[in-house]
Amino acid sequence: MRTPLLAGNWKMYKTTGEARELVEGLLHGLGDVSDRKVLVCPPFTALHTVRDLVQGTPIALGAQDVYIEPQGAFTGAISPVMLRDLGCTYVIVGHSERRAIFGEGDDLIGKKVRAALTHDLMPILCVGETKPQRDAGEAETIVVAQVRAALAGMTPDQIARIVIAYEPVWAIGTGDTATPVDAQAMHATIRQTLGELAGTDVAAAINILYGGSVKPDNIDDLMAQPDIDGSLVGGASLKADSFLRIVHFLPTRG
Ligand code: PEP
Repeated sequence: MRTPLLAGNWKMYKTTGEARELVEGLLHGLGDVSDRKVLVCPPFTALHTVRDLVQGTPIALGAQDVYIEPQGAFTGAISPVMLRDLGCTYVIVGHSERRAIFGEGDDLIGKKVRAALTHDLMPILCVGETKPQRDAGEAETIVVAQVRAALAGMTPDQIARIVIAYEPVWAIGTGDTATPVDAQAMHATIRQTLGELAGTDVAAAINILYGGSVKPDNIDDLMAQPDIDGSLVGGASLKADSFLRIVHFLPTRG
């Protein structure tokens, strides 16, 4: 009942020319993807270029962050209205790099989720524990708290319009992926939490992505897990051949 979503987070990579080259490569090898959703999230500066290339194709466009106001004196910020204007339908919110490097906390992240929903952008809410937190046996507590904090006070209808990305911080950009079994366990916990917040029917329909050193050689095993509904991919989304192999994961689910 959930359509898998394969999303590329390009982070602060790709000039407009490089973005064009990557998207042309993706479109060249994409083929039939009618049973899955494909998304690219370029840096703000390449959104316009990528929008023109993906219009009318199966590739959707997303941004990597958004501010909470529609417009105003917020130097350097980008609003949800501007993202819609550029053709974005998704936005990543609360990525661990935003949390750790830019000091974003649960309160701001919750406001960003709401701002995205208000303007018809589907937020991809990122959650995940650090290595010390996992080693201390606190991973589930931390992740559940992040989900609850970001979604506090939301209606089931609102929660139904978000995507969650479980991204253990220690796995991002390190080559150290969570095992499929560990990732599945956390995804099941997140789905249970969503059920408590919005009801089991809503929870059963929400896409929960795994992110953290997903590569062509581990995507199939991850996607075989019943609660892993896709992936948010960083490094391996920067080259057409590796992202295409991830997009074309083998559907081994029963
Ligand atoms: C990410 O940026 O969300 C990510 C998961 O990065 P990587 O795939 O490089 O670990």
